[in-house]
Order: sequence, then structure tokens, then C-alpha cells
Amino acid sequence: MTNARERLAEHLKFFGEMGVEGFRRDAAWQKRGRESFPSDVVAEKIPVSFSDLTAIREDIGDCTRCKLCNLGRKQIVFGVGNPNADLMFVGEAPGRDEDIQGIPFVGRAGQKLTQIIEAIGLKRDEVYIANVIKCRPPDNRNPEPDEVESCEPFLFRQVDSIKPKVIVALGTFAAKSLLKTTDSISRLRGRVYDYRGAKLVPTFHPAFLLRNPSSRREVWEDMKKVRALLNGEDVA
Ligand code: URA
Repeated sequence: MTNARERLAEHLKFFGEMGVEGFRRDAAWQKRGRESFPSDVVAEKIPVSFSDLTAIREDIGDCTRCKLCNLGRKQIVFGVGNPNADLMFVGEAPGRDEDIQGIPFVGRAGQKLTQIIEAIGLKRDEVYIANVIKCRPPDNRNPEPDEVESCEPFLFRQVDSIKPKVIVALGTFAAKSLLKTTDSISRLRGRVYDYRGAKLVPTFHPAFLLRNPSSRREVWEDMKKVRALLNGEDVA
């Protein structure tokens, strides 16, 4: 993507593909959009300072709890975003780009995730993004059970510190890890689960969406549920 016009065109194309039927420029319509995320909802939460997350990060340290520390990881990819976020996204594990930059979801799947976030009227820095596993598995293989066991307590602490209203589990691996089930994402998605005081919405991983663009309709259905939950509506 070389310039702003092309990026805008790409965004509009994606919004269209997700089922957004149009935009209006008048102030009333734009105001309606913002009202769907009332600021008092955010203000109600007891603010969390970065120090809570900093303490978790310090506890992780230069982690050697599992074998990934010796399998070529460049750095630990802790998480990024608003420590008071109402909405948290959880992915699987860092890939190559994330391992280099130390930030989750910055590669192609990350660009897709940013589009998904923006499609529900939020900015990337208003949400919190983390992974079940904080180190890149070699050749992007699936994380192994002992790696999950060592790493997931830190994700749970991140969730407990941020206290999001809604968590989106991105893909089979995150959904299975969080919900402690062996069901596939296709079986899990479409429903809302109670999880550590939040509502959990499983959806397809953005990388899957890149390979299977026809699944964007289901993702949009899931994201409409997320938006409704953030607005305090009851969603089954
Ligand atoms: N895929 C993930 O699950 N997490 C990332 O951070 C990047 C790609």
C-alpha cells in the first residue's frame, strides 16, 4: 500500500466485503456512530495503570520457562494497547514480523485485524491485543501443550488486570486455550461465552480470513455481536 488514497480504497473495499452498506457524511450519522460507544461506559471502569501490566511483564522477565527461549525467538511479545480497554483480542502466538518488532499482530494478519477493529468503529490503540503464547514458535508451528501451560498464566493475569467487557478469541488455538475445549473454531463460533468476568466471542483468525475471504461474513456477524455487547445489549 503506497499512499493514503490506496489505503482508503482498501479500507472501503474491506468494509463493503464485511457487509457495511454505506457511509454518510452528515454530522447526525457520525454522532450516532460514536454514541454506540458511550464514553461513560469507559469512565465507569476503575482505571488500571500501566504499572499492573508492567508488573506482569517484569514477572515474565527474560523468560526461560519453556523451550521456545532456545528455539530462535528474538524477543518476548507481551501485548499492546489500552490497559483499560473494554475490548481485548487474543491470538495464538507471534509470527516473524511480531518477533522482530516485539508487537502482536503487525504483519499481514495484523493489518487484517486492524481493519476488523476499525470496522466496528474503534481504533487499534483503544483495544488491547495479546497472544496465548508470548514467543514465536519455530517456523510458525502450532504451540505445544507444555508451552501453553507455561505461558497462559500470564495471559490470564493480563485479562484479570485489564478486565475487558468483551474478549475476542482469534482462531481455533486461542478459542480452545481460553475455553479449555477441543472443539474447533467452526463449532465454537456463533455463540457468546462467559469467561473470567467478560463475554468471550470466538471468531476466525485474521490469517484464516486472508486465505478464506468468503469467511468475512461470519466474522462480521461475530463483530456485530461484539459491538452489541460493548453497548450493553444482551446477546445470546
Ligand atoms: N498471529 C497471531 O496469532 N498472533 C500474532 O501476533 C500474529 C499473528
